Amino acid sequence: THQVHIIGGGMAGSEAAWQLARRGIHVRLSEMRGSGDTTPAHNGDGLAELVCSNSFRSDDDEKNAVGLLHHEMRKCDSLLMAAAAKARVPAGSALAVDRDVFSAEVEAALRAQPTLQIVRERVDVLPTDGLTIVATGPLTAPLLAESIGKATGADSLAFFDAIAPIVYRDSIDMDVAWMASRWDKGAEASLALGGDGRDYINCPMTRDQYLAFREELLAGEKTEFKEWEANTPYFDGCMPIEVMAARGEETLRFGPMKPVGLDNPHWATAEHPNGRWPYAVVQLRQDNKLGTLWNMVGFQTKLKHAEQVRVFRTIPGLENAEFARLGGLHRNTFLNSPTLLDRQLRLKAAPHIRFAGQITGCEGYVESGSVGLLAGLMAAAQITGRDWTPPPRTTALGALLAHITGDADAESFQPMNVNFGLFPPLPEVKKKVRKEAYTERAKADFTSWASTLP
Ligand code: FAD
Repeated sequence: THQVHIIGGGMAGSEAAWQLARRGIHVRLSEMRGSGDTTPAHNGDGLAELVCSNSFRSDDDEKNAVGLLHHEMRKCDSLLMAAAAKARVPAGSALAVDRDVFSAEVEAALRAQPTLQIVRERVDVLPTDGLTIVATGPLTAPLLAESIGKATGADSLAFFDAIAPIVYRDSIDMDVAWMASRWDKGAEASLALGGDGRDYINCPMTRDQYLAFREELLAGEKTEFKEWEANTPYFDGCMPIEVMAARGEETLRFGPMKPVGLDNPHWATAEHPNGRWPYAVVQLRQDNKLGTLWNMVGFQTKLKHAEQVRVFRTIPGLENAEFARLGGLHRNTFLNSPTLLDRQLRLKAAPHIRFAGQITGCEGYVESGSVGLLAGLMAAAQITGRDWTPPPRTTALGALLAHITGDADAESFQPMNVNFGLFPPLPEVKKKVRKEAYTERAKADFTSWASTLP
């Protein structure tokens, strides 16, 4: 018999299994690949298969948030990081691996754990009792997804991510953009949340700018849908911006780029002391509690990443925008974690079930693995009757966990890579050396937290 049932032997499930088994806890790891099942993206049956790129991105732990996450995972004796070290191939400052060697290393290390049982089986319903970690990833098999949907409520499980780009607040030119809510509405709600009634960042466009921008959207290079994504229809509210642009010259102006009710104070004159309405407006909405990340409302897109940077920097106020993430549309199963999960990744409605990996709304191999690592540590603490202290908010693990479990805006919640915008800001530090300051603070705080781990 097992003490923890882990469903899904991908990045998160493998790391969680390792963290538990190496502490002597009995684990059943259920992975459907190898039992005759697979996902539309996996090729083989190995645990922790990398489905696309073979890179864990930057390994720079002095200036880069994902590199810092590598560092913190290594400090926690991460299996994925140890396997990556053995499977590493040259890739400059990136941590890239031979994917077959990597998967084989993970599997061998797990097989050597006496308290871990690896079972090739598909799980179709959420277990009704027993400590469970669900780590079935962005391509969770349909029956289990249905069962998760039932347990969480119909609207709480997304099957598509329609991602609008997210911009770092400190890269927006506020001499051009300005803060306001349309028609100054919603002031009461804003005040209740500590705002001042001017909740959006607005980027103004003249008619010529609008027409030129629309042309860029239409002409910009797009990524193609994968075959298995192509038949998924667009939902309301997640139509790509370029598809909307193609519907007609005015469609955007009556949709996400609507200018009405937004006086631009930068255009104020004696005659119009409150300013004038621009011809079109791009609005950005605060995306995290810290106020460091802002998402471009309605700008989900399939433009290629380099094209997004080029085209979106033509928006007045965003000339020097830096993006915490770029837009996209993919098939992806993920929970509205900020509303559904507690601070320990447990389903509030059924706390014997914990989620880990991309299904919690992080994105990427490393992030998914790191949330698996945390889920493993949390379950271990629970079983051994120890109090769980989360990693500090100032660390990469802590920042990512806080984002997923409550700090992100639940309404616009979309999968997120780790980035410095999730960290408590350091406005007093010069921008040039801020990344180093984030990592220095993180490492110091992480060391003292990690020293408390058994
Ligand atoms: P996974 O690694 O997908 O693991 C989930 C596991 O659960 C799988 O092994 C699956 O077989 C198993 N499973 C599913 N349902 C069941 C069930 N009912 N019963 C038992 N087992 C089940 N990230 C990057 O960093 N770089 C990239 O280049 C990249 N490219 C991607 C391309 C595609 C097409 C997709 C879909 C994702 C990509 N990602 C990429 C994201 C990356 O795959 C995920 O972030 C990461 O693999 C997620 O880890 P996970 O453990 O949450 O899920």
